[in-house]
Amino acid sequence: MRWFVELTAQVGEDEDLFDINLVTYPARVPLLLLGLDDTLLDRAGAFRAWACEFLARIGAPEYDLEWLLSVDADGIGSAWDVAEALRERYGLRYSAIDLVEEIRGAVMERMRLDPLTACALAIAEDSGWVPVCVTNGESRQQEAKLRKTGLDRYLADWVISEEAGVRKPNPRIFAIAAERARMRLGGAWLIGDSPEADIGGADAAGVNSVWLHRGRRWSEPRYAPTRTADGVIAAIAEVMASRW
Ligand SMILES: [Mg+2]
Repeated sequence: MRWFVELTAQVGEDEDLFDINLVTYPARVPLLLLGLDDTLLDRAGAFRAWACEFLARIGAPEYDLEWLLSVDADGIGSAWDVAEALRERYGLRYSAIDLVEEIRGAVMERMRLDPLTACALAIAEDSGWVPVCVTNGESRQQEAKLRKTGLDRYLADWVISEEAGVRKPNPRIFAIAAERARMRLGGAWLIGDSPEADIGGADAAGVNSVWLHRGRRWSEPRYAPTRTADGVIAAIAEVMASRW
């Protein structure tokens, strides 16, 4: 919110800039910011499918799946950490780099764009929303996910933390997304699954948010999402309903 107030103050001081902004950034078209992993695409499902297969292949017990999922932590832990943890626990002969490549390749291969998610994005776009993906991660990896799944065709643009030089929850990344779409951040909505990166970031940027709970309870006392939903399609419907 602080960021938005500061920008508004700056714009207010310079009348020429204010006029340019009125022309360039239409205030009435709403910006829809969306996370990528476990919001637009089911990364958790893709990782779990690979993990089950891998544990079976090396003869590890099935109950080690929970351990492996916790090491991955929804992709927050890097693939290198996962590879090292696997090598150490099972005394594997695979090199770390081979494991990292296998994990990344397998997750990528298993990611699919749900056609109903594509439909929901198309409907939102038809009714005037501008969908922009904002994701933390490596540019090469995240961009490949967007393009290989065909998600790129349903988005106006995307911002990846590595190339932007700033990560969620820093509100600057949402300002960059708004700039790319040539829109104002005021009135935007954000849909995401991470309490800290997505909802904390939206709170800091002063935008409304929908949290995808994925079976979890909200436990952060410092801020809260505007709405909660059990999937991205329901979340898009909530955002669209907010305009009427
Ligand atoms: Mg996410």
